[in-house]
Amino acid sequence: MCNDQDVVHVHNDNVLRAITDDGAFRVLACDTTATVRGAIEAQKAETPDLTRIFADLLTGAILVRESMSPDHRLQAILQGDNPRARMIADTHPDGSTRGLIQLPPDVKEMPLGEKGVLQVARTLNNGALHQGVVSVPAGSNSVSAAFMAYMQRSEQTVTMIAVGCHLSNGEVAAAGGYMVQLLPELAEGPLMVMTERLKDFQDIVPLLAQGRATPAELLAETLYGMPYTTVGDREVHFGCRCSPERLAQSLASLPRADIESLMEGGKPLEIECDYCRKRYEFTMQELRSLIDAN
Ligand SMILES: [Zn+2]
Repeated sequence: MCNDQDVVHVHNDNVLRAITDDGAFRVLACDTTATVRGAIEAQKAETPDLTRIFADLLTGAILVRESMSPDHRLQAILQGDNPRARMIADTHPDGSTRGLIQLPPDVKEMPLGEKGVLQVARTLNNGALHQGVVSVPAGSNSVSAAFMAYMQRSEQTVTMIAVGCHLSNGEVAAAGGYMVQLLPELAEGPLMVMTERLKDFQDIVPLLAQGRATPAELLAETLYGMPYTTVGDREVHFGCRCSPERLAQSLASLPRADIESLMEGGKPLEIECDYCRKRYEFTMQELRSLIDAN
């Protein structure tokens, strides 16, 4: 489950996991640069703010999945002050992560600080679904703050999270983040030291901008002076789960009349995956067989 070294990508994103030797803290640190680039390319975030929010949602979702349910899927849905403005991060145990930006046609930005809502859904080990909904903390435009609120309220885990994305000339230069969790063994002392220490790292964008935010560097910074052991290194990447079979399945679930109306033109039906923009074509014959199977 650790090093996935057979998989070759241009830029390898990964999540490092460490535990302090006194058993007080668990830290996850991730580089999500390539994942975010892939997702942004497919979704065409039009403004820097939109790009940052989307990047932070993807990174936060990856951190929460890796910490709470590394072997299961996790989806995070962020709704802006405008309830019709939404973003989705969908991350899977094989490390593949994809996202969706859904804005009404006239809307170009997605402020969150007034009525923003973060919803997280993940599969539990017994197959049940755990869902939590939190408001984005008032006055904050911060996705980090929303994920911290989620961890506290819905997972009952005291967690410090910082995610960030550095843009250079409008392009994603670096994205990543960390999560520090207090383990049950924790005494008051180390908690205060850690809280104090992380004040310097609440905003990791300056570190990302300086190229000093690799997962290994984030671990070293957040755990400076504390002996720790790295206990995991997992690969993450941009990837979509769509396939002709999956699309056929969702088409087949439509009412018969809807499929028939899709066939009215008499031409093959072209469908684009909303997540990755890959195009699929269904011939009339394939559509007819969907109706027959229906
Ligand atoms: Zn796709």
